[in-house]
Amino acid sequence: MGYSIGVDLGGTKMLIALAGEGGEILQSRKLPTRAEKGPERIFKDLVTGMTELFRVSPKEIEGLGFCMAGYYDRQRGIIIDSPNLPGWENYPVQQQISSLADIPVVIENDANAAAWGEFVYGAGKGKKNILLVTLGTGIGGALIIEGNLARGARGLAGEIGHIPLLPREGPFCSCGKRGCLETLASGTAIAREGRALLQTGKKTAVRDVMKGATLQAGDVFEAARQGDRCALEIIDLAAWYLGQGLAIAVNLFNPEIVIVGGGMAGEGEILFDPLRHYFSKMIISPLSEEVTLVAAEMGEEAGVRGILALLNESFFWQEN
Ligand SMILES: [Zn+2]
Repeated sequence: MGYSIGVDLGGTKMLIALAGEGGEILQSRKLPTRAEKGPERIFKDLVTGMTELFRVSPKEIEGLGFCMAGYYDRQRGIIIDSPNLPGWENYPVQQQISSLADIPVVIENDANAAAWGEFVYGAGKGKKNILLVTLGTGIGGALIIEGNLARGARGLAGEIGHIPLLPREGPFCSCGKRGCLETLASGTAIAREGRALLQTGKKTAVRDVMKGATLQAGDVFEAARQGDRCALEIIDLAAWYLGQGLAIAVNLFNPEIVIVGGGMAGEGEILFDPLRHYFSKMIISPLSEEVTLVAAEMGEEAGVRGILALLNESFFWQEN
């Protein structure tokens, strides 16, 4: 029996899954990404992980699907840059993976893979036009148009996180510009605003709920759930910017559904309530009753499930 492997490489952890012939996941494991060691070390960890964790011989593996955070140039098979993974600038990922094993390989940006996972198995099942946005440290995005991944000329379509909303005076972004949506509504942005709030000396529950030494976005959400007005204001403003970014994309592409995934989507209605409010106000009125905004359903498996499904499809096309 032939197996395939799906990998979702993130800045702090990688998820590896072993799949059977039909693409169903048989086993999956999470490993820490030793991001600071660079791509060669990460690939070594990956190969060791695959053979040791799953106890299958490399010969039995018939295909590999790989997705990661970063700008992936499909035409040239290189990672142009990855904000959370040092050493990947202009990295020939396609060539490197192919040199590890002579098997079919499919590579995607992680948001594209997650969108495909939601499209095939999750919140986007049965829909043909989907906008997916992932909220976490950064903000990623992907578009499915008429049932196909919209990749654009170089594979960089869907970078919703870098829509410039405050390009003159906004905070600096990982992309080198200012005031991108990501700098105003990501987990990093919410944590930054939370820290700024602490600096003001105002009385706020944010200080009391802090779990670690440094304030995280989750602490701001926790304080907001306790009714803290300052924390609620931070989230309200982030939701306003996010609504604005999503409305720009929706007015352009007219998706049936907007799927919000990533770690921050798990915060639930405290985020979704204001987000839906602003989003529906900002999109053009014929769309406001049609487009639904929902939380992703596949959790952290969306990327590997999606990349495995894409790999399976590429097998199908090769065989037919
Ligand atoms: Zn940016």
